[in-house]
Amino acid sequence: MSNPTLLILAGDGIGPEVMNEVKRIITWYGDKRDMPFDISEDLVGGCAYDKHGTPLHDDTMAKAQEVDAVLLGAVGGPKYDDLDFSVKPERGLLRLRKEMDLFSNLRPAQCFDALADFSSLKRDIVAGLDIMIVRELTSGVYFGEPRGIHLEGNERVGINTQRYTESEIARVARSAFELARRRSNRVCSMEKANVMESGVLWRQVVTEIHEKEYADVELSHMYADNGAMQLVRNPKQFDVIVTDNLFGDLLSDAAAMLTGSLGMLPSASLGLPMANGRPKALYEPVHGSAPDITGQGKANPIACILSFAMALRYSFDAGAEADRLEAAVEQVLADGARTADLLGPEGGSPISTTQMGDAILAA
Ligand code: ATP
Ligand code: MG
Repeated sequence: MSNPTLLILAGDGIGPEVMNEVKRIITWYGDKRDMPFDISEDLVGGCAYDKHGTPLHDDTMAKAQEVDAVLLGAVGGPKYDDLDFSVKPERGLLRLRKEMDLFSNLRPAQCFDALADFSSLKRDIVAGLDIMIVRELTSGVYFGEPRGIHLEGNERVGINTQRYTESEIARVARSAFELARRRSNRVCSMEKANVMESGVLWRQVVTEIHEKEYADVELSHMYADNGAMQLVRNPKQFDVIVTDNLFGDLLSDAAAMLTGSLGMLPSASLGLPMANGRPKALYEPVHGSAPDITGQGKANPIACILSFAMALRYSFDAGAEADRLEAAVEQVLADGARTADLLGPEGGSPISTTQMGDAILAA
């Protein structure tokens, strides 16, 4: 059998710095765990624009469609702020998501015990927290037509349309139920069925899919405003939350802050299964290119490393290896390893990006 294939798009800013640590871990898996990957590397974002005049070359796009998974670092930076919208670094990422049809965005919010004091909430509310927000990523109010700013009489009107088809809801619901089966078997679906037609349909379709295909999973429904409140009141009540594009945008950012640091948060974006049964997949840290610390060896590589752990789990059927990698991260944090972003107000001496990679490899 041929090796699984990975396309690495390290991108801009701290992207290449954090990705370097992931590459060392991938090499470790090949050498020490007999899990070799076939890696190819390419450009995305500002660096692709510098070389090709476009943030994502067609050849790179074609490669992304063929591999088992794409691992992305970060895109953008002040150097590209004045570029035309059509060639902005972020457009490279948007094109990947759109053409790979990555409709299911997985954002875990997991609180490592050693960092529980970083949360904006009290330790006992977040210690041991492990939830997963599944956000619909390719439809809803960010894409619905009609949209635009029009003149009505003598005033301007801004219009967006929340639109969801049955099949768009069904496929993201399935991805949440599948995920729940590998976790604590609970899904909470969030919408505003009390005031929105798309919310009424959302609740109907999720309920139907549940009854027909996933009756073994525990399903609850919540209005998204109550969901936001519950998320900061008692987040541990949740396992998997599934919601639309707009609510998911807000709820996943709120959930992220429950865990404290941007440098710790991974994500996955999944599409439909390919011929080999694996979903189309792109894994990336939640953080951006962090121009303020680029090139200083300060970046925390953990978000990118945990994104690779998600790849192990969701693309390569290697859940036990993902557990191993996450346990190594947990251990080095418990042992006190801290990049600068993980130091509290009391300070301490930070380790570098590479030293964090060293520590995780050793663990
Ligand atoms: P984008 O527009 O690309 O999302 P942003 O400005 O929203 O970028 P980041 O680039 O992620 O966000 O940076 C926000 C802050 O968090 C910066 O001060 C940055 O240095 C810090 N930061 C982000 N990622 C990391 C990391 N991996 N390690 C340490 N600090 C980080
Ligand atoms: Mg940002």
